[in-house]
Amino acid sequence: MKKNIFLVFITVIFIFLLMYFYDERISVLNREYVDSDNNVYIEYPYFNNQAVDGYINDYLNNVIDASDKYELFMDYDYNVDGGIVDIYFYVNKVMQNMESKYVRKLEVDLESGLVVSEDVIRDDDKDIYDIYQYKVIDKDSPMVALTFDDGPNHNTSRVLDILQKYNVRATFFVLGMNIEGNEGILKRMKDLGMEIGNHMYSHKLATKLESDDIEKEIKKVDELVFDVVGCYPTFVRPSYGTVNKRVRKVIDKPIIVWDIDTLDWKYHNSKRISNKILKYVKDGDIVLMHDIYSATANSLEITIPKLLDEGYQLVTVSELFYYKEKELKNGMLYGSSN
Ligand code: ZN
Repeated sequence: MKKNIFLVFITVIFIFLLMYFYDERISVLNREYVDSDNNVYIEYPYFNNQAVDGYINDYLNNVIDASDKYELFMDYDYNVDGGIVDIYFYVNKVMQNMESKYVRKLEVDLESGLVVSEDVIRDDDKDIYDIYQYKVIDKDSPMVALTFDDGPNHNTSRVLDILQKYNVRATFFVLGMNIEGNEGILKRMKDLGMEIGNHMYSHKLATKLESDDIEKEIKKVDELVFDVVGCYPTFVRPSYGTVNKRVRKVIDKPIIVWDIDTLDWKYHNSKRISNKILKYVKDGDIVLMHDIYSATANSLEITIPKLLDEGYQLVTVSELFYYKEKELKNGMLYGSSN
């Protein structure tokens, strides 16, 4: 009998010791990354847990790999509660005129190494920064860039709702004349990680305009967008996607056209729009749509889940070219429609 009590006692001590060492195991072991320009700095503990450390490594390496395009500051914090560890990544990117800052929270089960939940937390004190969800893109999996022209208008919010529902991104080539009164929609685009491009101010045919007027049309949109979201449009898609040598010379940004034209402006039929994409889509395509039509919004409810099912990642135009390792030059045309 006494022997049994002794065994229980020893077992309890052993369990406590195990728990103690388990805690020790997840204590801080800092590691630093500094890139050649000294602009990446990360400090974070490892958890001596293959799955969790692997996950952290992959995430950080992905952000770092992508960071040759911008200055990056990342910090890291964590909190252990029972077998669950909360990991916080504080990311601050500076890219040309754009600064983005967000906190990504991961809940990981230490035992299984599985991610329990992922969340992006907005830093309310830093409202001037756009905050978007960082999603690791697998550059070896197919990707497609949905693009929407001629907005924003009241229908754009529906398009954003659907993109948000599926946690995917797209690029909006906005018209300057549609920005006034729709500033909230533009801000929401930015918050959701959508890319904003320049579709000129008043949807005039650039080839029929004087060089000065083309410049004005583009500059006005650049400034309006900057005033609302704090960064300039990345690309230009001239109205109607029409350019000539002279127009290209004036445009000091890469010119993005498209690979698939859904003709949504003509047919206003969600099934037809969706079929066109699903029939022709291939890795690396840019798809042309218009966010101002309700049939286009409806079509997304068909198209997006199917594309995701087929393994496509829906990315912005910048992401598409970045991950396809294609360097963009100002005044050059991208997309196969012309
Ligand atoms: Zn247009």
